[in-house]
Amino acid sequence: MRHIILLLIIQCFASNIDVQISYIDAPLINIHWCSDTVLALTSKGSVYRSDDRGRQWTKMSEIFHRKALIQLEDSDERVGIVNNLVPSPVDKSLVLFTGTDQIAWISLDCGKTITAVNAGKQLREYQFHPLEKDWIIASAWKQCGSDELLAGTPCVSYKELLLSQDTGITWHQIATYVNQFTWGVKNKEMAKYTPKERILASFEPQGKGHQSISNSTTVPFERVLGKEVGGSLQKLHEANGVEFELNAGVKRIGGVGQVQRVDLLNGKSLQADLVILGTGIQPNNKLAKDQLKISPNGGIETDVFLKAAKNVYASGDISSYPYWVTGEHVRIEHQNEAVRQGYVAALNILGRPTPLTDVPFFWTRQWDRTLAYSGVGQGFDEVIVDGDLSQQKFVAYYARKGRVVASASMNTPNAQMIISEALRLNVMPSAEDLKEKKVNLDDIKKIVLSKGSSCHCKRAGQCQSQL
Ligand SMILES: Cc1cc2nc3c(=O)[nH]c(=O)nc-3n(C[C@H](O)[C@H](O)[C@H](O)COP(=O)(O)OP(=O)(O)OC[C@H]3O[C@@H](n4cnc5c(N)ncnc54)[C@H](O)[C@@H]3O)c2cc1C
Repeated sequence: MRHIILLLIIQCFASNIDVQISYIDAPLINIHWCSDTVLALTSKGSVYRSDDRGRQWTKMSEIFHRKALIQLEDSDERVGIVNNLVPSPVDKSLVLFTGTDQIAWISLDCGKTITAVNAGKQLREYQFHPLEKDWIIASAWKQCGSDELLAGTPCVSYKELLLSQDTGITWHQIATYVNQFTWGVKNKEMAKYTPKERILASFEPQGKGHQSISNSTTVPFERVLGKEVGGSLQKLHEANGVEFELNAGVKRIGGVGQVQRVDLLNGKSLQADLVILGTGIQPNNKLAKDQLKISPNGGIETDVFLKAAKNVYASGDISSYPYWVTGEHVRIEHQNEAVRQGYVAALNILGRPTPLTDVPFFWTRQWDRTLAYSGVGQGFDEVIVDGDLSQQKFVAYYARKGRVVASASMNTPNAQMIISEALRLNVMPSAEDLKEKKVNLDDIKKIVLSKGSSCHCKRAGQCQSQL
């Protein structure tokens, strides 16, 4: 389907209307005017420019592509796709174009000449200063270098804040471990009282916590399940023909017209005609972030009743609530938890105060085996395994400072039902007792039954009979 830009020139005092049609490659998603020059962005990421108020249009994709190749020494064929155009609030002719792969271009003359932004790292969020034309702040993720990854050194990644005072030519890092940021001057009126150099940023002074994510794993599923269980699952997958490339970040996905290869940071290149990205998600808190408190984990912070503010409740993936076991705010991404939280939030909205005191649970099928998990194991410092990892028949207990906070099991019927109940009733044995084999799953079951557990779940009858 061909998309068009229609230019209607209505001549006053004349009866005729001049209609001009220009063809573009996709529907328009943004238009920006700087006097006679017009910039138009299509949903395919192409920028068109007209210097005569829309009569003639030039497609600029080739220029964007070329400039990125020259300035960034990139060889990817896709470089040049533009996602958004952001005009400066001070000067209409100053426009920032953001593209795929965190590539950006700047133009001081409304697109007549463009320059790819080269800060030596991939910049992500940009903010023009509201009053100073040449000032821009932008964030970047400190990424692990290929040398670090190859050496297998633990490597942390965090958000940095960079400042340019010459319209993106030179950049200086001004803070690390940054969460959110903005210029401290909102408008001209406020600027009278506020120094214009002020930048407001929230960050983690300790340089620890949510923004330290390790790019280095030695086995799959290590972050959630630990090395032992992760290693067991790796063997299961390898026995079924899966090959792993661990500690080998993706440098580039390449191909012409379609994907043909994946280049890794360790120098290897894998042939591929289909790529599935299992990279996780980041919560989209855009709607709420200016009004509500956002936890470092990206969720909307609530109390134990899932209340975020007066008359505002958050439930499901987006809520960050205090987990009743540890008091720490957690954000759980499980279907049944989302359903349960919706129910709890609804009760609270209806005026029946109901704290969220569940033990999160999920299961996953790996080939012919099922792995079940209950609790919240984040920050675990010890894993106690009961069973045979080589046969994927085990119960693993995840402990923090000697207290079991979560568990995973495979091929052990009802283990997770029993452990979920023990966690819920707060009768889980200590990590030490489990490690020294003073207690086992049968003992935990006995303790649970002695508490007259009624099984706190939708299928209580079934759960009771299985216990
Ligand atoms: C690939 C994948 C596999 C998964 N597998 C499992 C699994 O096996 N087991 C399991 O337990 N969990 C799994 N999960 C997690 C599970 O899907 C989520 O925990 C669950 O869907 C969360 O439900 P929710 O209602 O909180 O959010 P969502 O299901 O994400 O629903 C949020 C809805 O809000 C809409 N929305 C967002 N912003 C706005 C807005 N501004 N205005 C209007 N609407 C808006 C979205 O379009 C969406 O429809 C998986 C998730 C993914 C992505």
